[in-house]
Amino acid sequence: MFKPRRRKVRILATLGPASRSPEMIRALFEAGADVFRINMSHGTQEGHAEVISRIRDLEGQLGRPTTILVDLQGPKLRVGTFADGTIELTGGQTFVLDLDPAPGDATRVHLPHRELFAALAPGQRLLLDDGKIRLETLEVHPNRIVTRVMVGGRLSNNKGVNVPDAVIPLAALTEKDRSDLAFALEKGADWIALSFVQRPEDVAEARKLIQGRAGVLAKIEKPAAVQRLDEILDLADAVMVARGDLGVEAPIAEVPRLQKQIVASARAKGKTVVVATQMLESMIQSPTPTRAEVSDVANAIYDGADAIMLSAESAAGAYPLEAVSMMDEIATQVEQDVTYQARVHFSEIQPEATTADAISAAASQIALSLSAKAICCFTTSGSTALRAARERPITPILVLTPKLETARKLGLVWGLHAIRTRDVANFEEMVGKSKRMALRSQLADGGDQIILMAGYPFGTPGSTNVLHIARLQGDELKKLPRR
Ligand code: PGA
Ligand code: MN
Repeated sequence: MFKPRRRKVRILATLGPASRSPEMIRALFEAGADVFRINMSHGTQEGHAEVISRIRDLEGQLGRPTTILVDLQGPKLRVGTFADGTIELTGGQTFVLDLDPAPGDATRVHLPHRELFAALAPGQRLLLDDGKIRLETLEVHPNRIVTRVMVGGRLSNNKGVNVPDAVIPLAALTEKDRSDLAFALEKGADWIALSFVQRPEDVAEARKLIQGRAGVLAKIEKPAAVQRLDEILDLADAVMVARGDLGVEAPIAEVPRLQKQIVASARAKGKTVVVATQMLESMIQSPTPTRAEVSDVANAIYDGADAIMLSAESAAGAYPLEAVSMMDEIATQVEQDVTYQARVHFSEIQPEATTADAISAAASQIALSLSAKAICCFTTSGSTALRAARERPITPILVLTPKLETARKLGLVWGLHAIRTRDVANFEEMVGKSKRMALRSQLADGGDQIILMAGYPFGTPGSTNVLHIARLQGDELKKLPRR
């Protein structure tokens, strides 16, 4: 049986050309990757299907659940093409974006998104190519937008367009997203990430299509989404601080504050939160990161984020393994720091008035008082385990669930070690199974105490009402079957 990682924060590694071989996926897992991200902005469904089947093969070899997140491209806006492939824009000149598909030049280009022409107003910003080029709208007509170039530069075919000042009446999911979503669900993805979420309705729409078959993660990368964060959190299972696009759409200096705000809000609601983008950016080319990057990773962990993410570092860089190992080392250092617990509990998070929260808070406190070695949490849907993780207990949480999908999905969550087990029929079996699992996973040994939390009668969702303390006896353990 696989030994749980002692680390509590989870590492999400994006797979790509540098990391899609079966050997590399396995090596990344062994170095510490807990969740694999498939980015639908690149590659083909065929290629991704191959990678997903490799991850599931690895799961079979390791005998423990592995977690797959499929990230949909979302309504990413792009300019059309140029007759010469690229143009040079100079500060102060005017530049027109229009609905004419003819190749552009230094005076105009096609902008193939009709919705923008209705949503924009004069005096708003258009940011091109990750914000390198800035335009301000002067006139907005039904099929033409006249802009002034505020910051110029070279612009080439199909570069991205960010529109931070307007909410655009774009569908949450494009045609491509719908096809990719159907593909991801068919292949058994555990999480679906939604890009460029603007409104809570965008999450609701995706939820309706996903129908509980995967967790829904809303990427927070637009100021409009930050403004409605609470409503988005209520509808999503998880959020991502998507600092790449967020740092283009919002002033870059605001990103750290927004990161802290998003992490704190998600934690208060017990929703899973991922911090992403440029965490170890220099490791795309270098085997060691910068000191500032190491600090950035550490700070996200101190904030209590559930997971930290690698993008190009693991997908397309020269050192994917080193990047995962580096995150693992940083996390190990941070979590050994005696001030880590205090910092993780920096924002006061009160239990809500539910039995699951009351029992989670008590389990965490009792485990601490007794130096118990594990909190064993019985859950079918995973919701009790999420509430237990929300407490951010020092003690490892061993999640026992009859549903493989639940065990896989929980791989993204702070501090949880989820295993699929057969259902238990009665209280005695529950205690026996907890002891066996705590022992087999090497979390506890003879003489150690463990805490159990469960809902009774078993298999009734939302019925968490049992809190039990058990001790693993030396001689009793000899009698326990090893599997
Ligand atoms: P992306 O999302 O890498 O898919 O753009 C993350 C981000 O924008 O930070
Ligand atoms: Mn993005």
